[in-house]
Order: sequence, then C-alpha cells, then structure tokens
Amino acid sequence: MNCPYCTAPGTRMETHRHLLDGHAAEVRTFRDEARDRLRFALGCPFCDDGMERTVNPRGREAGFLEEFQREIALVAFDLLLYHLQASHPERIGLPAEPSESSVPAEAAMPGGTQ
Ligand SMILES: [Zn+2]
Ligand SMILES: [Zn+2]
Repeated sequence: MNCPYCTAPGTRMETHRHLLDGHAAEVRTFRDEARDRLRFALGCPFCDDGMERTVNPRGREAGFLEEFQREIALVAFDLLLYHLQASHPERIGLPAEPSESSVPAEAAMPGGTQ
C-alpha cells in the first residue's frame, strides 16, 4: 500500500509506522474545555470524513498532550488506515475489494508489540 500523503510504499505495518514518523503533525490534539477531556482529530486526505475521538480523560496534567502525542497519533492513524482500506483502497494502492483477512484484529490495539 502507499502512504496517503506522499505515496511512499510499504506494508500496512510499515505505512502505519511511516505515518507516525513522517506525518504525525496531521493529527490535531486539543482539549475539550467544556468536558475537561482531550480529543484528537484527523481528517481523511481524500474525502470530508474525519476521525475524531476522545482520548484518556486524565488530561489534567500539563505534560499529558506531549507525552501521549505519539500514542494518540498511533491510534488516529490506525483509524485512518481502516477508513482508507474501506473507502479509498484504490488511492493507497490496494485492490478495490480488500479481503477481510487483511485486517488483523491486533492492529486495533494501541501500543502493541514492538
Ligand atoms: Zn508519507
Ligand atoms: Zn475518506
């Protein structure tokens, strides 16, 4: 598959890592002051859909955002890859109908094996 931002080729895992290393700035993290929660948002580069989620609500510590930026980006890009595989497979060099076996369940777990 190819990186949705710069078309760099790689496996899903490599692309996930590449997104983290090269495009982490695409993930916006911000505080929902009204609910005292942290949220992240990541827009799809190919359509108007966007991923937006609330992350760990223990966001009171000043260093939280920086400390968890990478972990947040990991989750955000995982969601983006699922969206791209489902909605824009041809844009990232995948067959139009991806097989279900190409989406391992473990990939949904943040901070997985390394
Ligand atoms: Zn890239
Ligand atoms: Zn999209």
